[in-house]
Amino acid sequence: MSLPKNTTVLIVGAGPAGLTAALSLVHHGCHDFVIVDAIVEGQNSSRAITIHSATVEALASIDAVDGLLSRAIKGKSIRITSRSSQIFEAKFDPLKKHSVHPYALFAPQNVTELVLGQKLQSLGVQVQRPHRVVGMKQNDKDPRITDVSFEDGQVVKARYIIGADGARSIIRTIAGIGFSDPEGPDLVDNVLAQMVAADVTFEPEPVGPLFSEGHLNGTVSSGSFFLLTPFGNHFNAELTRDGKPITKSIFRVGCAIPVKNGEPPRAPPKEYLQDLINTYGPSSITSDPSLNPTPVKIDQVVWSTRFRTHSAIADRTFTRFGAAILLVGDAAHIHSPAGGQGMNLAIRDAIFLADAVTKHIQASAENPDVDDTILQEFADTRHARAMEIIGFSKTLLKLASLTYEAYAWWMPFSGAFIRDLMLRMLGRFDFVQSRVAWGLSGLGRR
Ligand SMILES: Cc1cc2nc3c(=O)[nH]c(=O)nc-3n(C[C@H](O)[C@H](O)[C@H](O)COP(=O)(O)OP(=O)(O)OC[C@H]3O[C@@H](n4cnc5c(N)ncnc54)[C@H](O)[C@@H]3O)c2cc1C
Repeated sequence: MSLPKNTTVLIVGAGPAGLTAALSLVHHGCHDFVIVDAIVEGQNSSRAITIHSATVEALASIDAVDGLLSRAIKGKSIRITSRSSQIFEAKFDPLKKHSVHPYALFAPQNVTELVLGQKLQSLGVQVQRPHRVVGMKQNDKDPRITDVSFEDGQVVKARYIIGADGARSIIRTIAGIGFSDPEGPDLVDNVLAQMVAADVTFEPEPVGPLFSEGHLNGTVSSGSFFLLTPFGNHFNAELTRDGKPITKSIFRVGCAIPVKNGEPPRAPPKEYLQDLINTYGPSSITSDPSLNPTPVKIDQVVWSTRFRTHSAIADRTFTRFGAAILLVGDAAHIHSPAGGQGMNLAIRDAIFLADAVTKHIQASAENPDVDDTILQEFADTRHARAMEIIGFSKTLLKLASLTYEAYAWWMPFSGAFIRDLMLRMLGRFDFVQSRVAWGLSGLGRR
């Protein structure tokens, strides 16, 4: 399919950031844009699952939240457990003092993208796919325009280019923007450098409070953490890949992999995942009879992946390369999924970006020589937000990597023991639970 030869705004990437940027542009009255993605519809995968309160509010502010509210599971709390008992629970309900959306939404990322894409389509915008950007060069005649070239030889001239093309962003690379950890490479010290995530079913289906919907459960064990989120049957149709209907409840599991365990497989198979559950998961879903009197086994692996937990941030979120180049989402920053903030930051970046871009377009219409202050202010604010989230997720990852090995023979305590004790004690206080829910919700750092 042919792309238009000229556009005011070109959005590269139709993940959560790109789709939201498009929705937000329409909301702000900007219709002269094109959104492209390299992959065909339906090839995106489950990945991030949490949409926090601040992001729900931000989506509501551009009238793009109704589909998600009716499709996603309304999350009630995040619980921290040991392998056998609950340590701490942060309920979202107290957020009602601060937000009309006092909950997190849980949905696989492909469902979130589907719903955002449907909303965009209802507004008359179609994502152009598959169209892969392969090059960019400044226009010969107009210094404020960039010629963007595609794999199939097409060229689109644009005044604004939104790089929403993920962690390996070609827009960022061609624009010459560096991408590195703000504290320098820490992979050597990072004992949880990789994670595994999967959507699975169990046989028999586990029962008990841990498996009720609306709760994200994080299990801490020695030197790792394990995540469990029950999806029930909510997303069976969207998660089915080979056409065979899935009838059982689907559970999202995730596990941080200690470096000493070696590199996990690219698409971890059933046996690998079962081993992780038996070593790090809640005892009530292990297949080991010595831990679980009613052993449970993974029945089907619906989807699985591995990914790194390192952090990186773009040196600049805005630059001039002829056109104004603006980065959002994973193209601008990545970090570990501890705290579930990545997709949230991506969506909120995109909402604020569209506001800045439409203001700049209007200002340029009145004065063609307008400077880039509006875009630079957006970039500085979002850079600062990303730095905060990188710090937050690193702290959570460090806490999760503590082990139960005693510091020394004369100090028979371990970091993990102290962490769990503090969580158990502080968790008795409502205000502590509320503070944790507030920190995760993003309401304090939209
Ligand atoms: C394997 C994996 C697992 C993850 N799991 C989790 C998880 O469990 N929990 C969590 O919180 N987060 C997870 N994340 C992170 C989360 O998915 C991201 O934070 C989120 O997707 C960011 O959205 P985005 O729109 O910025 O980028 P993306 O979702 O990466 O979207 C980028 C889009 O750009 C398109 N694109 C790329 N290059 C081009 C090009 N040259 N031309 C045109 N289009 C292009 C891609 O096809 C893609 O659709 C995971 C990430 C990965 C990679």
